[in-house]
Amino acid sequence: STSAPTQVRRSQAGPIVTEAELPPGEHFINGSFRPGRGATPTAVIDPCTGLEIASVASGTVEEVDSAVAAALAAQAEWGRMVPKERSEILHRIADRLAENADLLVRLESANTGKPSMVSEDDVAGTVDTFRFMAGALRATTSMAAGTYAHDHLSLILREPLGVVGVVTPWNYPLLMGAWKIAPILAAGNSLVIKPSEQTPLTTLKFAELVADILPAGVFNVVTGRGSVVGQRLSEHPGIAMIALTGSVGSGQAVARGAAESLKRVHLELGGKAPVVVFDDADLAAAASSLRAAGYWNSGQECGAACRVLVHESVAGEFTALLVKEVSTLVVGEPGAGKEVEIGPLNSKGHYERVLGYLERAKAAGITAAIGGTALDGPGYFVAPTVLVDVPDGAECSREEIFGPVVTVETFADEAEAVARANAVPFGLAASVWTEDARRSHDVASRIDAGTVWVNSHLVLANEVPWGGFKGSGYGRDLSVYALDDYSRTKHVMHNQGR
Ligand code: NAD
Repeated sequence: STSAPTQVRRSQAGPIVTEAELPPGEHFINGSFRPGRGATPTAVIDPCTGLEIASVASGTVEEVDSAVAAALAAQAEWGRMVPKERSEILHRIADRLAENADLLVRLESANTGKPSMVSEDDVAGTVDTFRFMAGALRATTSMAAGTYAHDHLSLILREPLGVVGVVTPWNYPLLMGAWKIAPILAAGNSLVIKPSEQTPLTTLKFAELVADILPAGVFNVVTGRGSVVGQRLSEHPGIAMIALTGSVGSGQAVARGAAESLKRVHLELGGKAPVVVFDDADLAAAASSLRAAGYWNSGQECGAACRVLVHESVAGEFTALLVKEVSTLVVGEPGAGKEVEIGPLNSKGHYERVLGYLERAKAAGITAAIGGTALDGPGYFVAPTVLVDVPDGAECSREEIFGPVVTVETFADEAEAVARANAVPFGLAASVWTEDARRSHDVASRIDAGTVWVNSHLVLANEVPWGGFKGSGYGRDLSVYALDDYSRTKHVMHNQGR
């Protein structure tokens, strides 16, 4: 049997941003907004209503090229700044974003349908990423000098790469932008960013807010389609590196586009995080943690706790606890109140995709213990769902659904749990739930994922790296590892004996 969540909140209050608060729907090139010269602008849709709230330029190859030219011209001076100077500028960006946090929260929620609590977390995380990188760039710039050959002094220098191209997804438009922009700028590079065509508003607002802080040309935005703007960024011979967060298909397209010019590639792709629950786990704590980690941002989260593998002896008890937790989630529009936890899916196409997974699961005889359907009324809402008795290898437990859907499978022993956890093409994140320290270390070390949580899930910090193995891509966001990714290492060996 299926049931809808107990609480659905609709907004009676109208739009959460005013016309005047929207950013210009134009490219941001060389320090100012420029109207697009391309054909039809791209409509930006409110996923709570399906109505158009703005439109932005559909960028062309020529517009990418002029943004890259501006970035190339600006990079040398930016890269020559001493660490303290660049650090102070990043701190000013963080301050400016923090001063405008309320506007950014409302704008992100208006474009994505995210509950305020999710957008608030995104904006706080964005500010912290700039502050972290502002400090990290000063701490990591000085590298070792030493004598490793007689009479020779070696200097190991960290240098910027040049211009970096950035392509971001729609699930965390501002935050995923910040995870690239902050370390790229911190390392002394300039950049051209293309936000998702569905969610360009907070990236354009970011440009508007920092226009008087960053030197012209250091930061550029070209809006438009992946197949045009993103493709040109990946192929452009003047770009030294391309960083994309998005789907596997887009990652493959970018890597192919980058091959000719041999530019560096940084890919944060999808995930299908296994949540391995052993029979000695604190089941109530696991269920309560999954209430957030499985459904945060409506499950449109690459690290979402979406695939439970639970020991068969506690599967019934755990599932009952999880369903009880999920039944208390408050679904609704961001304007309907601070208590809303789950918003709509981001677009009609994605909503239909998620419903397709639910329909095929049902046709395959898989039961929804809760949810399993769309919600009535306007917008792209899907009920928080738990699919149970999922057989090994089922589509819903192998493919990234990217919606408010958690699947539950069972396992008999530790070896089976590890094998099944690793039996997906992705390797971004995972969690292990057990009170046994030996088992937690052992299983964590055998799971192929860039992040493994023990008795937790989805907790992140700017100090620690984020990124995947296998089909989840390569390269790391956050932490000093990201600064390394956006820098090149030069060795200068100086003969002092002559
Ligand atoms: P998407 O791949 O459809 O789009 C991502 C971006 O790539 C968009 O800006 C799009 O325009 C662009 N793009 C599309 N085709 C392109 C091409 N040929 N060349 C260059 N750019 C192109 O992904 P999405 O639907 O926006 O985002 C959801 C995906 O992102 C999910 O798979 C999710 O797991 C992943 N994601 C990963 C992380 C992570 O940190 N690993 C974080 C968030 C999202």
